[in-house]
Amino acid sequence: MTNEYEVIIIGGGPAGLSAGLYTSRARLRSLLIEKGAVGGQITNAELVENYPGFPQGISGLELGQLIHQQATKYGLETLQAEATGLELQGEERVVITTKGKFTARAVIIASGSERRKLGIAGEEEFTGKGVSYCATCDGPFFKERTVAVVGGGNAAITEALHLAKFASRVKVIHRRNEFRATRILQEKALAEAKIEFLWDTEVEGIEGKDIVKRLNLSNAITGEKSTLEVAGVFIAIGLKPNTDYLKGILPIDDAGYIITNEKMETKVAGIFAAGDVRLNSARQSITAAGDGATAAIYAEKFISR
Ligand code: NAP
Repeated sequence: MTNEYEVIIIGGGPAGLSAGLYTSRARLRSLLIEKGAVGGQITNAELVENYPGFPQGISGLELGQLIHQQATKYGLETLQAEATGLELQGEERVVITTKGKFTARAVIIASGSERRKLGIAGEEEFTGKGVSYCATCDGPFFKERTVAVVGGGNAAITEALHLAKFASRVKVIHRRNEFRATRILQEKALAEAKIEFLWDTEVEGIEGKDIVKRLNLSNAITGEKSTLEVAGVFIAIGLKPNTDYLKGILPIDDAGYIITNEKMETKVAGIFAAGDVRLNSARQSITAAGDGATAAIYAEKFISR
């Protein structure tokens, strides 16, 4: 593997993989850098039901692998490493990674986002010991136990529905009295007997001994304190973009999202962004894939200019 490419793509979710498919089919020497498994966040989805072309649904893991296979067929190279910085050197863009420096004429940033943390006592201490950010990964450990899910968006409700297959009770703890999740998910959750809702409730702390035992709760309206005995707690309170390594290089908004135009161009020539990492993304696999294709098409135009 030499270190010089025409395009480097950071991130191997649907956005990055689709960008790689398009740049490699455009016969551009392309490298995709991914720190974990290809597929990104969708690898956590047991069944993706809204990706066109799969009427029976498809597992997120398989979908990621299939797009990767398709891009690799046209010459996309993949490096398992973490991007830690980006520098501009004349015509070249230099991507610094945990496995060395790589240069390219154009860079497509598709590093996605990760789960936000509550930032409360016990959260870090019990991560992996009852505190989880992935029901698909950890749900089976809680067979016939009581678990909690924190959040009121699509992720929280999807997690609760998945956990109801294993746990004896699933308590959804939401800080307001109405969900942000789509109606169809709300209806499914309300119809599931194992799921219970704790409205207007905030989690203030997680306690246990080696493993999680209870949550300290507070009523958001009355301030009344209570505790809830649980074997596990799944935190699903939104996402944080993976852009820390880009600070000072690209315009990024206060929440950390990269600002692009409709061609996925950032303010820096030759640097594009696609998928969940950019401001105003619809945060769906299919829209991320579309962003990736768009970024690749304009990256090709940029290089041939
Ligand atoms: P989200 O839609 O931003 O919802 C975050 C939820 O967490 C909100 O209910 C919010 O409460 C709550 N929250 C935020 N900060 C909190 C805090 N500090 N303490 C307690 N609660 C807090 O995020 P998401 O559910 O992770 O979804 C992210 C994106 O992925 C969305 O675009 C979503 O549509 C998409 N997604 C789609 C599916 C699907 O289609 N099946 C599944 C998963 C995710 P408030 O409501 O009070 O703000």
